[in-house]
Amino acid sequence: MATDPVETPKVVTVGEGFHVWQAVDNMAWVNLGEYALVVDALEQPQLEGQVFDAIRSTLGDIPISYLLNTHTHGDHTALNGAFQRRFGTQIINQRTSPLPPEGRWFEGSRRRALMLPIPGCHTQEDCAVWVPDDRALFVGDVFGWGLIACESGLDVRAAELLGDTYVRLIEFEAAVVIPGHGPLCTTAELQRWLDYFQWLRAQVVQACGRGQTDEEITRTIAPPEDMRTWWRFLQWKHDDSLRRVLEAVRSGRLGNGEPSR
Ligand SMILES: [Zn+2]
Repeated sequence: MATDPVETPKVVTVGEGFHVWQAVDNMAWVNLGEYALVVDALEQPQLEGQVFDAIRSTLGDIPISYLLNTHTHGDHTALNGAFQRRFGTQIINQRTSPLPPEGRWFEGSRRRALMLPIPGCHTQEDCAVWVPDDRALFVGDVFGWGLIACESGLDVRAAELLGDTYVRLIEFEAAVVIPGHGPLCTTAELQRWLDYFQWLRAQVVQACGRGQTDEEITRTIAPPEDMRTWWRFLQWKHDDSLRRVLEAVRSGRLGNGEPSR
């Protein structure tokens, strides 16, 4: 089996002064000119020393004025307190400072960033962060390398919201997409996931219509060939997605599987 690409954290340079700590939990720091902002803050507080060394060696002494949480799950917020303590960083998320639907811009002389609410796909607090100068888009846990993002039940409404939100995210035409966890990707993977999700739903509806058993369905709907290299997809994500869609179709929550438009 191939080794896991993010077992060892790696600092990836997206642009000059724009770095991503790529690991199981991702975070990033972005120099806007007069100040920097950070996106997300990991799960393990014991990484504080390592992370701050990496930030200092790539950003120097520039003030870190804002920390943006894509949502407030514990695996995105562990270092919030450390940033506040060390730099007086202001923590921005839907709990500390709710954003208007059109989002909030952070401007600098070097680049700018838009934090944009995309609620309801993973949690009610989801936000994306768009950095137009680098065509980079943070999507938090709304993209999960094959996972269905919604925490709460999968039903027709949740599926529609996911579809609509993915269309919004794809429209940015980002060159670099930074998910909450795992390797960075591109807009192509966002589109691929949306196609996969719709395909999976249709496959399950048809199979149930043919009267196949759960066991038969789980055995016959295989992970698509081109997604077999997706991060942890074969290990468990395809099975998990299939199980969730099957459950939702069996219980009638995903309707007859036909998108309503
Ligand atoms: Zn999460």
